[in-house]
Amino acid sequence: MGVVKISIARKHLEEMRVDVAARYPVEACGLLAGVRGKSLGVFPLRNVLESPHRYLADAEEMARALWEIHRRGWQVLAVYHSHPLGGFRLSAADLRFAERQFIHLIWAKKAGKWSVRGWVVYPVS
Ligand SMILES: [Zn+2]
Repeated sequence: MGVVKISIARKHLEEMRVDVAARYPVEACGLLAGVRGKSLGVFPLRNVLESPHRYLADAEEMARALWEIHRRGWQVLAVYHSHPLGGFRLSAADLRFAERQFIHLIWAKKAGKWSVRGWVVYPVS
């Protein structure tokens, strides 16, 4: 895998930030989609676990979002979720279930403000 780079429009950062803040203390999750690494849309997905520690995206909403992204000729650029009670690092469960082809955006609070970090998960072989 080469250099992984995406550029996220300010309005999409704001959309994700509003989403994770609104769902606090439940973990928020969703997809960031676009073309050639540039963001074009945010697709929040319901966390069926309603948990502050884990997330599982609603399968039907996920299917609908993926269909819409495909229909628009976009790609999934990143998967985002929040750590309402934790930091930016991926949890053991995050690492176990992470889709390897995506960038993972983690939203957490830093000095009381929601902030984001991106991760790429490489397979260990
Ligand atoms: Zn996580």
